[in-house]
Amino acid sequence: MTAHVPVNNEFLLSSLLSKQRAAFMRDGAPSAIQRRADLLKLKRALLDRRTQFEAAVSKDFGYRSAYETRIMEVVPLVQAINYLRRNVAKWMRPERHRVSLHFLPGRTSVIYQPLGVVGIVAPWNYPLSLALMPLLSAIAAGNRAILKPSELTPATSDLLKSMLRDVFPEDQVAVITGGPEIGAAFSRLPFDHLLFTGSANVGRKVMKEAAENLVPVTLELGGKSPTLVGPDADIETAAASVAYGKLANAGQTCIAPDYALVHEKDAAAFVASYDAAAAKYYPDGAADRNYTAIANARHYARLRGLIDDAKSKGARVIETGGDTPAAARRLPSAIVLNVTDDMTLMREEIFGPILPVVTYRTIDDAIAYINRRPQPLALYYFGRSSVDRRKVLMRTTSGNVTVNDTLMHYVQNDLPFGGVGMSGMGAYHGMAGFKTFSHAKGVFEQSRWNLGGLMRPPFNRTTDWIIRYLLR
Ligand code: NAD
Repeated sequence: MTAHVPVNNEFLLSSLLSKQRAAFMRDGAPSAIQRRADLLKLKRALLDRRTQFEAAVSKDFGYRSAYETRIMEVVPLVQAINYLRRNVAKWMRPERHRVSLHFLPGRTSVIYQPLGVVGIVAPWNYPLSLALMPLLSAIAAGNRAILKPSELTPATSDLLKSMLRDVFPEDQVAVITGGPEIGAAFSRLPFDHLLFTGSANVGRKVMKEAAENLVPVTLELGGKSPTLVGPDADIETAAASVAYGKLANAGQTCIAPDYALVHEKDAAAFVASYDAAAAKYYPDGAADRNYTAIANARHYARLRGLIDDAKSKGARVIETGGDTPAAARRLPSAIVLNVTDDMTLMREEIFGPILPVVTYRTIDDAIAYINRRPQPLALYYFGRSSVDRRKVLMRTTSGNVTVNDTLMHYVQNDLPFGGVGMSGMGAYHGMAGFKTFSHAKGVFEQSRWNLGGLMRPPFNRTTDWIIRYLLR
């Protein structure tokens, strides 16, 4: 118990967890039919409230177009539900495994059991999908769950709460709202698993709290995801794709291309193509109806600060997209050239519509540049050469990779999604999510007829023979 959290909150949280755990113990693992039905209920509830969610997210951000929320959040969720519903029964079947010769005719199998009650902590930048996507995996794996969405998106969090209350009983899925103090109290609960999506700083605290109860964690963090534009890449296509990935949600995307490494011969063409693509996607610049606002004043000021800091240290900043009043928090697209390692925007995750362009001479130099930094959540590579592509894939480590596009690995239902090193640990989505929220229980079934007796005292020559065979 800490002084920071009112006692009744701690009590409320732990009694909610006890309630869910008791229900889990009472009912056991839900059948495939039940899980599919739960996912379907959630899909219908989400689609029924689609326009409400689009309005709520826009309210929380200051502005976000309904299309952005529909394409970036609702569509991936519905696709993931459809995929999970199609596959969950198959994943739940006990897996037959091989048995060593001397244990025949015994049998081995792996049974995937729900862990029990899982905790989910979500961030503000995709407040709908990053709350529900882990919940889908948890439900598919047969768990009960308590969700803590971000305090920075109150309208969306309230709508999530009321939707989930309509769909599920509180002892199956519940939502707790609140800020860092509630988050900290939440992380101290003895869940069966805790999935956290957010910043590395908070992730570190969450892991520390969870360690007290030996609660296993999945940490979905962020970082600086590089884009490497190979020397043989089609510059126009690459720049258009980077502009799309960077400017969607005004750069407030964990897997947004953070900076671009471009061959020195291509830098001018890349910058021109990037600006042309930005102007095509958002003809009215920062005021465009499809361009998202920066979600809060603190982040807006932070992003302005990154540009000022870079300028003061000698960077050339090309801002396009017009000037908008600061109160609207619509930050124009900016490209930053001549960047150096001492600039804050090269030391922190940018999380906004600012793209530093770093030039390189050889692909090996570009790979070395990436490898001097913490392992990123995503890496993007553009190029035609299969030798270079292989080199980039084999010699860099990142959570995931998309080749010749940006962001798209996130919506591949059958790929694990997660970070590595400083960008996180563990993964979810598809089968990886099912496994994250399941216990893979290995089962050995001994046969009535077996050789086990020969390895028990009193030992004889047959025992020696078997030992010789096993030690060969
Ligand atoms: P954040 O870490 O500030 O907050 C995330 C959540 O943690 C919120 O719900 C918050 O209330 C809660 N929280 C705050 N303090 C806490 C504490 N002491 N204990 C427990 N919980 C606490 O992150 P954010 O600003 O909401 O999101 C931005 C970050 O998230 C970026 O770094 C981004 O890259 C990352 N991110 C990662 C992914 C991914 O899938 N890997 C997705 C989106 C965002």
